[in-house]
Amino acid sequence: EETEPVEEVRPQSPVKPMTATEVKVNVSIPEAAERAAATGADGVGLLRMEHMILSLNQTPAKFIEENGEDAYITELVEGIRGVADEFYPRPVRTRTLDAPTDEFRQLEGGADEPDEHNPMLGYRGIRRSLDRPEVFAHELEAFRRLYEMGYDNVEIMLPLVNDAEDVYQAKRLMEEAGIDPEKRKWGVMIETPASALAVEEMANAGIDFASFGTNDLTQYTLAVDRNNEHVADRFDELHPSVLRLISDVIETCRENDVDTSICGQAGSKPEMAQFLVNEGISSISANIDAVRDVQHEVKRVEQKLLLDSVR
Ligand code: PEP
Ligand code: MG
Repeated sequence: EETEPVEEVRPQSPVKPMTATEVKVNVSIPEAAERAAATGADGVGLLRMEHMILSLNQTPAKFIEENGEDAYITELVEGIRGVADEFYPRPVRTRTLDAPTDEFRQLEGGADEPDEHNPMLGYRGIRRSLDRPEVFAHELEAFRRLYEMGYDNVEIMLPLVNDAEDVYQAKRLMEEAGIDPEKRKWGVMIETPASALAVEEMANAGIDFASFGTNDLTQYTLAVDRNNEHVADRFDELHPSVLRLISDVIETCRENDVDTSICGQAGSKPEMAQFLVNEGISSISANIDAVRDVQHEVKRVEQKLLLDSVR
């Protein structure tokens, strides 16, 4: 008698549960967009721009030197557009460039990159973008072109901000690039304790959302290098101090009408989802393979909250 073939992939319920908390998906490479969209996620919580650039194997400066500014902008437009198409009209939160110098150094043209002792504490994210507005302008031009093409589901997310000053400067550059911040959805990542403590001021600067980058928020709150195996057992996204920062940010954001979300790896963990739903987060973004489990966990916690409220 024939035996049933063993299922390679754990079967998941075909029904996507309806939840008040949105469950989104992280997309690290545009090629994964189709699979990501098929999860039924409510949108993309994090689309990383750097993979579109690192895959060119040249630094932006080198690529531009050889191919011109327009070719560079087109690369960005096409990378984002593939994902925005796949998800339309679901939102695609696209993060501006956030590669540390040690990653840029490995690319052709990378020898010019600063050699830093602590790249993770150095020249990356919004710091680099604000320091080189002429390079950041290419990314913003890509967004402007996407809006012109009608991709109003594209959102702009700023990495590694520390305070409202970072946000005001970035906002001014958006305006200079022909993007109307009042009309578009844009926001910040909460990745440093400083940013968590400054979220009210950032709300006043006009952000629509704040998204927890718990990989970095954990690293910087606990002073534990996220890539150092010797302290790997101390890297705990559920550490009470990390959770307290998250909880305070969610509360402040609720008071200021700013959406909250998580796009770090911890968003794929059921324990974190449970904590966040109880705190009242607006959305959770998980890795492709974790989306369905997170959807069900969110549903379970929401139902329990509802039951508790009527008991
Ligand atoms: C994070 O820090 O949690 C995050 C999502 O950004 P990255 O992992 O790219 O630093
Ligand atoms: Mg980060």
